Amino acid sequence: MPTHQPRRTPGPRGERFAVLDPATGEAFDEAPDQRPDELDAIVERAHDAWRDWRADPAARTTALFAAADAVEAAGADLAPLLTREQGKPLAESYAEIARAAARLRYFAELDPVPEPIVDGRPVRSEIRWRPLGPVAAIVPWNFPLQLASAKFAPALAAGNTMVLKPSPFTPLATRLLGSVLSAALPQDVLTIVTGREPLGARLASHPGIRHVTFTGSIATGRAVAEGAAASLARVTLELGGNDAAILLEDAEVERIADRLFWAAFRNCGQVCMAVKRVYAPARLYSQVVEALAERAKTVVVGPGLDPGSQLGPVSNAPQLARVERCTAQALADGARAAAGGHRLEGPGYFFAPAILADVPSGSPVVTEEQFGPILPVLPYGRLDEAVEAANDTGFGLGGSVWGTDLDRAEAVAGRLECGTAWINHHAELSLAQPFAGIKDSGVGVAGGPWGLYGNLRPFVVHRPEEA
Ligand code: NAD
Repeated sequence: MPTHQPRRTPGPRGERFAVLDPATGEAFDEAPDQRPDELDAIVERAHDAWRDWRADPAARTTALFAAADAVEAAGADLAPLLTREQGKPLAESYAEIARAAARLRYFAELDPVPEPIVDGRPVRSEIRWRPLGPVAAIVPWNFPLQLASAKFAPALAAGNTMVLKPSPFTPLATRLLGSVLSAALPQDVLTIVTGREPLGARLASHPGIRHVTFTGSIATGRAVAEGAAASLARVTLELGGNDAAILLEDAEVERIADRLFWAAFRNCGQVCMAVKRVYAPARLYSQVVEALAERAKTVVVGPGLDPGSQLGPVSNAPQLARVERCTAQALADGARAAAGGHRLEGPGYFFAPAILADVPSGSPVVTEEQFGPILPVLPYGRLDEAVEAANDTGFGLGGSVWGTDLDRAEAVAGRLECGTAWINHHAELSLAQPFAGIKDSGVGVAGGPWGLYGNLRPFVVHRPEEA
């Protein structure tokens, strides 16, 4: 579990904590450090707001469409703030905002369908779907707005209200998003709370919360599940990943290299579903290492607000320390940095994106989630060995297979033990598809209609054919 928390700065506006710009390493603003005991009144208000919000599906649809318009209209305010606190290039911040708006529209149009139970008995039984009540959402720092919307869009569309806590590393854009949405949503339907721990722990275990939806690390996910057990609230956990990409003998390396590189390095590799390990057949190994290293050496690393930057800084100091530690360990284990692998000089948390070759398969950079701009490339002899290595992990989020014979690639993809497998792509996600990690990567299903039903409970009305 993380032990690092942003600095507290008591001041005239109450307890607050500093928010740092990862491109400079300097504080540039503050956010309220709300106390856990403030949650009692907030959850009570969310419960009160639930009565009206759940009662009128048509009004909800209208409000969610208005919310989507409001998010889009605020893009020019939200995007630079998101880049400032998170580090990602501005275009990626705009993409997060567009995704949040699209997700609101997607769920605004999705209605739960009542289902008759047809089993031959002389009864007319029907399943109707009911909301759960106030839902708690806890969000990490890698995609603050996109992941917030992945929680509030289905939860609110289902007729629940929500109390949402962003990461203390990235509270500001989410706070602004909350005030943008308040123009479209009734009061207390969505409340953003910010603060350092134990605010999240208290939110997850609050007795007034009926569902806890969490995205973050496995260790914190376990703590959240334990907390939610106190009130027997439902939990949805979207946790870490260590996705493997397997290249087949017929992969055309130059043709796929850009796509593979960005599947690993987008958002500085801080993506749960990034490619975190590449397995290449021995015959193609040097070519794959060189193709990826060439891209790592030429990609433009710089402040996200600079229009030319393709990769921003690592998002926060503890994460940079983790990336440095992981790389140093791999090099000590005998790996070779074919590109990058060191912190860049100057202010900010910039790191030269690393392609690591000749990595022992037991090195933590292979077995653990690095969650940064580092990519180990491993050779394999027989394909079965690559599939076995890809599956030999406690994680099970995604995976991909790359080759020109699509039928063969699909057959190999079908052997991956994970929630989503791609062919010649990675981490391409439709709003309409289920998102569910297996093993330690998650519990429950988000995305698509499954995400809506994850925020509902079945209510069965059982009626005989005759009185
Ligand atoms: P984290 O687990 O440290 O924090 C996530 C959130 O939990 C933050 O808001 C944090 O403040 C809060 N928190 C911390 N301690 C808590 C506690 N005891 N109780 C309740 N809440 C607590 O994760 P992070 O470092 O912010 O994010 C990176 C991790 O998130 C990576 O492991 C990554 O793979 C994972 N992630 C998963 C997905 C997915 O969909 N599967 C998506 C994005 C990120």
